[in-house]
Amino acid sequence: MNTRRNFLKHLGLMTGGTCLSFNYSSLQAATGLRGRKIGSNAMILKFEPYELQLKHIFTIAAGSRKVTPVMLTSITWMDTVGYGEASMPPYLGESHASAQDFLLKVDLSRFSSPFLIEDILSYVDGIAPGNCAAKASVDIALHDLVGKLMQQPWYRIWGLNPEHAPCSSFTIGIDQPEVVKEKTREASSFRILKVKLGGGNDREMIEAVRSVTQVPLGVDVNQGWKDKNMALDMIHWLHEQGVVYIEQPMAKTAVDDMAWITERSPVPVIADEALQIPADVKKVYGVYHGINIKLMKCGGLRAAYTMVGMARALGLKVMIGCMTETSCAVTAASQLSPLADWADLDGNLLISNDVFNGVKIREGKVEIPDLPGIGVQKKSP
Ligand code: MG
Repeated sequence: MNTRRNFLKHLGLMTGGTCLSFNYSSLQAATGLRGRKIGSNAMILKFEPYELQLKHIFTIAAGSRKVTPVMLTSITWMDTVGYGEASMPPYLGESHASAQDFLLKVDLSRFSSPFLIEDILSYVDGIAPGNCAAKASVDIALHDLVGKLMQQPWYRIWGLNPEHAPCSSFTIGIDQPEVVKEKTREASSFRILKVKLGGGNDREMIEAVRSVTQVPLGVDVNQGWKDKNMALDMIHWLHEQGVVYIEQPMAKTAVDDMAWITERSPVPVIADEALQIPADVKKVYGVYHGINIKLMKCGGLRAAYTMVGMARALGLKVMIGCMTETSCAVTAASQLSPLADWADLDGNLLISNDVFNGVKIREGKVEIPDLPGIGVQKKSP
């Protein structure tokens, strides 16, 4: 096995077996695949490490970086290929090595059909705890494959209206005022901007943005504020500056302080770092007004869809976000965007070496491709 792994590693390509699950029996019947002999071909999972180059050094309260490691995946079944991706910003703890270790354990040959999404994804989730980005890379590829087999995009399979997709924000990282102004000018086609704060120059950041544009602003502090009274004062000032939501103002562990702020805040306060998977949604209820769902945090589309339903049932607001990713994962997330209050789907716009074509932001609004699966096409090399 080790020899095989080493051989495949030298090729830059490794295979395992993986499948995801969703309740597909009725959909399979509707697609005309019922009569085909499924199980005659095993699903094949492939994965390949890749490094995203960021257009600009990206600075948030947690630090700066110029690259993001990703794992590009595919699942092939009966000549149809579904694409997926794991994006692994270093501060989240996953890496090329951890994703490879996880994906090598995935054995899709045990499943007779990709339509067994629920069985497959439950199996993948049970292989090991954590590894959410690696799990998402399987989930996304499986959804892409199944959508292509059904010849439908996922927003349509879920019964969503693409006209209800929200505007997407564009992210302005922490920087010097002149750089912030330049980045804000470059983002003039966006109808909402997300400004990163928590770097010690918060008012300067907002004033620089406001000197260029009057569009609504979201703010993401990435746990950067340490004192609840200071945080609430700043939120009131930001409200006067046209800020429409505040994301993760304090540490994810500051539960009592966050509940105190949320009770008093004039604008919605959104949890990002404070939650990850569906089981976390109930933990932030009463502590924040809403949640930021990212495929790489929760493990993919299946978990994200569940989280949207849980949030809505609890009266929480919903943002669909992303990491720095290729258009593969960002476009997959866009399929859910008609269910969201806000979209923050700019991760593919921050990189210079995208390998997919997919979702577009047109006049600020998320435009989900009318293509089957997750809606992406691989660029020719
Ligand atoms: Mg955030």
